[in-house]
Amino acid sequence: MAAPIMYSLTDFKKQTDKLSNNELMPVLFIGHGNPMNAIEDNEFSRGWASIGKKLTKPKAILCVSAHWQTKGTMVTVMPQPQTIHDFGGFPEKLFQAQYPAPGSPEMAKETANIIRKTKVELNHDWGLDHGCWSVLLPMFPQADIPTFQLSLDYTQPPQYHFELAKELQSLREKGVLIIGSGNIVHNLRLVEFSDKAFDWAIEFDQNIKSYIEQSNYQPIVDYQKMGKIAQLAVPTNEHYLPLLYSFALRKKNEALSFFNDKATMGSISMRSMIIG
Ligand code: ZN
Repeated sequence: MAAPIMYSLTDFKKQTDKLSNNELMPVLFIGHGNPMNAIEDNEFSRGWASIGKKLTKPKAILCVSAHWQTKGTMVTVMPQPQTIHDFGGFPEKLFQAQYPAPGSPEMAKETANIIRKTKVELNHDWGLDHGCWSVLLPMFPQADIPTFQLSLDYTQPPQYHFELAKELQSLREKGVLIIGSGNIVHNLRLVEFSDKAFDWAIEFDQNIKSYIEQSNYQPIVDYQKMGKIAQLAVPTNEHYLPLLYSFALRKKNEALSFFNDKATMGSISMRSMIIG
């Protein structure tokens, strides 16, 4: 199997400078972790900010967030999505944070139309949950790029998400930045206040990294076959599924680079990835 093309973030700027309208927008997977990353200046938020500066400005952003799970698949079509503070027990300043990006009803409706796998419901009530805005606030602080979300159908298995994600490819040609936002390893029950991670968390994260590098995606979709470490790393899969919405869109031999690639707090992997 061919080795993936790897390059540094510095090289990435040179690549994106050459992007023309006929080329594809990159795809991101972001390990979002702690909501406080939205307003803290730390290694993770700096990693997101750095990507934001290097990317060609997208025409729109589509977020697939761990924090919007629905029965059936939905897409947000409101012109002015609200900032949803879907968490508890954090400082007041996090609840005051706003991400007033406009929506993109046209692109959202187009997204619903290009998905053949299911009938996508147009949603007027959601907004931007913290899986989306906590990442975008450091990445695109001006909040001037139209942003919309696609939900995760919690009734469907990973294979379904992998196949549905592939149907989003044409959005990349239209300047839409697709962002899957979750965490490869996410076990809140075992989180501890540590900069390090459990051996099983590191092993699972490394396994996934290797499969992606080898363009060997089926074992990632079938992660449950990894047994005990998968049960520990992915006790529930809402944070894992957004990862499928990134590599499903990777073209053969398309460039790939990891950043924020660190497992921390015992049981969280912050590994993030840019494709294209
Ligand atoms: Zn989360």
